[in-house]
Amino acid sequence: MLLMPDNPRWPASLKMHELSITQSILEIALDYAKRNQAQKVVEIHLKIGEVSDFDDEWIQRYFDFVGKGSLAEGAKLRISRVPAQLQCNPCSFIFPLNKSTWNTQCPSCKSKESQLISGREFRVEALEVI
Ligand SMILES: [Zn+2]
Repeated sequence: MLLMPDNPRWPASLKMHELSITQSILEIALDYAKRNQAQKVVEIHLKIGEVSDFDDEWIQRYFDFVGKGSLAEGAKLRISRVPAQLQCNPCSFIFPLNKSTWNTQCPSCKSKESQLISGREFRVEALEVI
């Protein structure tokens, strides 16, 4: 059974601690699992923005730790990354953020006034439960 939680979001802080992150993931997963009378959470699908420097392996390790003894014990985290994109303020042009240079200059009008419009996401997209 695939559950689709209504995309809860966390504050867009870039340096949230992995442990509190994984605890939030666990709480959401358990909440949805209980409401749907699931026996076990098998997989949790996450969408994480490219700008957040969370290491997939560490998130899984923390999750294994916090999930012990719960319905979500041993659940696999499936993480997909959302590309970081900037939008130019003066001309509204949308362009990808180059993470090696962090260049924010608009390739269209050369303005440096742009803002990050995606890439900070952190949300639970779906849960696979039995
Ligand atoms: Zn521009």
